[in-house]
Amino acid sequence: MSHFATPSPADYPGNLYVVAAPSGAGKSSLVKALLEIDTRLMVSISHTTRAPRGQEEHGREYWFVSKAEFDAMIARGDFFEWAEVHGNRYGTSRDAIEQRLHDGQDVVLEIDFQGALQIKELFPSAVLIFILPPSWEELQRRLFRRGEDTPEVIAQRMVNARHEVAQARHFDYIVVNALFETALFDLKTIVHAQRLKYSTQRLSRPAVFDALQLS
Ligand code: 5GP
Repeated sequence: MSHFATPSPADYPGNLYVVAAPSGAGKSSLVKALLEIDTRLMVSISHTTRAPRGQEEHGREYWFVSKAEFDAMIARGDFFEWAEVHGNRYGTSRDAIEQRLHDGQDVVLEIDFQGALQIKELFPSAVLIFILPPSWEELQRRLFRRGEDTPEVIAQRMVNARHEVAQARHFDYIVVNALFETALFDLKTIVHAQRLKYSTQRLSRPAVFDALQLS
């Protein structure tokens, strides 16, 4: 258990967006493009026990830690959520997001569906977005085209994808990534709509609210 009180969304004026998808649906590219056009969004850097791939750097894509370090973090209650995905462990630390949300910044979590559902329990106001491929055939084509995995690994990813996609019904929004630009527009629209909510506008447009004597 954590040594913090359970966070209440009321304490955190920043918006929390959680994006999940099966591997190959285009989640990373979409989130990257969204962050490039929306400088008010910051992505949370997770901890993982998996080894760095290619050009990945400690502290940029992930905090790469040993299994023992990860266990120690769990024991200390350092994580808001963590999950085992494809044989490795991944977690969102309190340090990665708590202060930012508290300061009113918007944070994006690019995590798996298990983590997303844990976050929704802790932060009921978190906005959960699931990215779907247009079809199973297209998902498989993308996994082959990306050229990162062996046919055996791709077959396993396709099996996992069916399980992951079945969780989409628990999410607030669905973005179908058939055309990249359309999916990116949908993501931008979700973020924009969130910023137009009464509770958010009251914090971001205090002068208007004061002038109109709105509380
Ligand atoms: P990869 O190893 O390909 O970077 O990520 C594998 C999966 O783990 C992806 O679905 C990714 O979104 C998910 N993931 C990354 N960070 C976290 C995290 O902090 N928590 C959870 N639950 N999943 C994560």
